[in-house]
Amino acid sequence: MSRVETISTSSPVDITVSGRSDSEYSSFSRYGDGPSWTTNALVDNLSSSPTLRLTAGQLPGGNINVDENIFPLLPPLLRGHPDVHLRNGVMNASRSADPDAENAFFVADLSQVYRQHLRWQACLPEIQPFYAVKCNPDPYVLRLLAALGTGFDCASNGEISQILDIGVDPSRIIYANPCKAVSFVRNAGKVGVSCMTFDNEDELYKIARAHPGAQLVVRILADDSKSVCAFNIKFGAALATVPGLLAKAKELNLDVVGVSFHVGSGCYDPSVYTDAVMRAKTAFDMGTEAGYQFSLLDVGGGFEDALFEQAATFLTDAIATYFSDRRGIKVIAEPGRFYVSKAFSLATNIIARRAPSADAGPTNENSEAQPDRPSVMYYINDGVYGAFNCILFDHQTVHPYVLSMGGSFHVASSEPVANSSVWGPTCDSIDCVCPATQLPGALRVGDWLGFDGMGAYTVCAASQFNGFAVSRVIYTTGGFGATALEVRRELAKFAMADRHGL
Ligand SMILES: *Cc1c(COP(=O)(O)O)cnc(C)c1O
Repeated sequence: MSRVETISTSSPVDITVSGRSDSEYSSFSRYGDGPSWTTNALVDNLSSSPTLRLTAGQLPGGNINVDENIFPLLPPLLRGHPDVHLRNGVMNASRSADPDAENAFFVADLSQVYRQHLRWQACLPEIQPFYAVKCNPDPYVLRLLAALGTGFDCASNGEISQILDIGVDPSRIIYANPCKAVSFVRNAGKVGVSCMTFDNEDELYKIARAHPGAQLVVRILADDSKSVCAFNIKFGAALATVPGLLAKAKELNLDVVGVSFHVGSGCYDPSVYTDAVMRAKTAFDMGTEAGYQFSLLDVGGGFEDALFEQAATFLTDAIATYFSDRRGIKVIAEPGRFYVSKAFSLATNIIARRAPSADAGPTNENSEAQPDRPSVMYYINDGVYGAFNCILFDHQTVHPYVLSMGGSFHVASSEPVANSSVWGPTCDSIDCVCPATQLPGALRVGDWLGFDGMGAYTVCAASQFNGFAVSRVIYTTGGFGATALEVRRELAKFAMADRHGL
């Protein structure tokens, strides 16, 4: 085995990094072909300088990591590359006598959320994003997006309160749930949220009763067949029904101001935006027929990180085609996963392992009975009832990588791998995180597996089934570059401008 290092904090650190910068976060793969660093402790910096020499005094709790707390009631906001915090958490677990120290934990990189916002502004400068809160209502994510000036798509009283409580004006909220409890509609009116969607006649009667001054947006059906999570089965008015709905709204003296659609969450063929915008245009014309003058086009969510630029092009072209005269029309969107999916990573501890006994030879019972069955089963301390609910609800597949093995963060690419499966900690057999993957056969109980891209539809829907806590989040503003500084500046400005932000 090529591993020579052990975790130790008392000695100076040498770390070799092959030219990484903020923009390279995403393309960096850690297992197999990752950079070769030699380290026997952790540092809180990965800069482009080839070798850094730091001492343990500068580890968390030391002077380079802890900063003024911008929001004293929230968890600390650290600095430094997220990978470093993943490894810090692993090291802390190995040193701490606290049994909770080995719990799974997230590292959230707020600079990644910020970078996504810049990307949004670069590609869709004329479309104002209303972040879909349900995707990840993390307190720092919400504050950062509020600071950056986005609006918010809320679906319940709870989400509306959460946004108002951080000091956001109700005019920056769209209540984008077409089927609301009447008490929730009334409450929206009370707290000043007036923009809300509908897609059926009953909703109009409710709104007429509970919030007659609301500004309504008719949600139409869009082709959702090219998305991982389809919505049409539950929401959306067929175009043929729209004239009738608008006539009813007129009759009830309600104000309809625009049209929304959602192509489905996790859209893998962004050409569907073209058709959706065309339908929206038809609905706009129906509005004119009914005596309304629509002023809001809401193009919904569905934006996938990898396809974002493509989606933006389809949208921009479609809007230019079908809404060539956009005077008096405001265009908004409801992105969720686009902002957060890559901003969170999860570190999990291997708490149990089942493998063919080393001396059982090649004809042990497992391989004989089911030759395709992964030979090594790893049990980790978060699962589908927790953060990995995204596997069940959001149809995701996740890919583990080795975070630490035998007390080292370095795994040689020559390390032999075995067919493996990864399981959550509960007593339910549905709790399978990864049915088949290749992982080093030398992994043992106490080693750590990491998962990237864990920010969307994960933490928010995690349960405590079987008595397992929801994994905590460690926050960083990213490396030490200009982006991190900008994130801290925006958050600090936001906290100062509105003391509710605390
Ligand atoms: C879930 C949802 C979104 C967010 O979808 P993403 O695919 O995460 O962008 C936006 N709008 C509505 C109405 C939703 O239900």
